[in-house]
Amino acid sequence: MNIKLPRRIDKRITEEYGAYLAPNRGKERVLYVPQAMFEKTMYALTYQMKGDDICYYCGNPLTSSTRSLDHLYPRDYGGISVPNNLVPCCKDCNGKKNNFTEEEYYRFKSVKYDYELKKAFLEKISKKHEELRRKEGIILPKEWYTLQRDYNVLVQINSTDSYKKTSQYIRVTELYETYGSICKPVVITSNHVVVDGFLALMLAKNLPNKVKVPFVTLDNVIAI
Ligand SMILES: [Zn+2]
Repeated sequence: MNIKLPRRIDKRITEEYGAYLAPNRGKERVLYVPQAMFEKTMYALTYQMKGDDICYYCGNPLTSSTRSLDHLYPRDYGGISVPNNLVPCCKDCNGKKNNFTEEEYYRFKSVKYDYELKKAFLEKISKKHEELRRKEGIILPKEWYTLQRDYNVLVQINSTDSYKKTSQYIRVTELYETYGSICKPVVITSNHVVVDGFLALMLAKNLPNKVKVPFVTLDNVIAI
């Protein structure tokens, strides 16, 4: 997939994170980004393109203390941190939206004051999400990812196993044990560098059998 890019990139982003836009082999423009600055660059690009002053959901003004970024496709179901999937919003809306997709959240808002409708809606959603978990566990559009058994990508590996103690690794492991699928995509750049989903990749590598892992390839991003 291609990530959304602005025509020009803020000077501040280039100065702070070292990311820049340039043609690749004389053709399309691609984003060159230091691997360690990937996440920060994605957040900054989202604010640059979508604004940082108005909540996407409620329209209220954002301040430095209320501002946050929401994943349109929720993180718990594989939502990745790229501008295509991020919107600026207030922390209040972000908390309320929780694990809903955008569409589900609007539906929830429209029924939340009617006890019966709300109850029926929440039951339906929880069933739908449970079903999803039992399949691939991710909610992203099919054209964004592929399921792969080949994990031959560039990733910096610590000499210790300390990552196994992180809450995120434990969470991915628990979900794998319950549902048999790895539901966090491994995000790689077009030059095969892992920029997100490191823990999912490590879990896959640690399993005795090769399992399918969702991979998102960012075709217009090059890690430097
Ligand atoms: Zn809001």
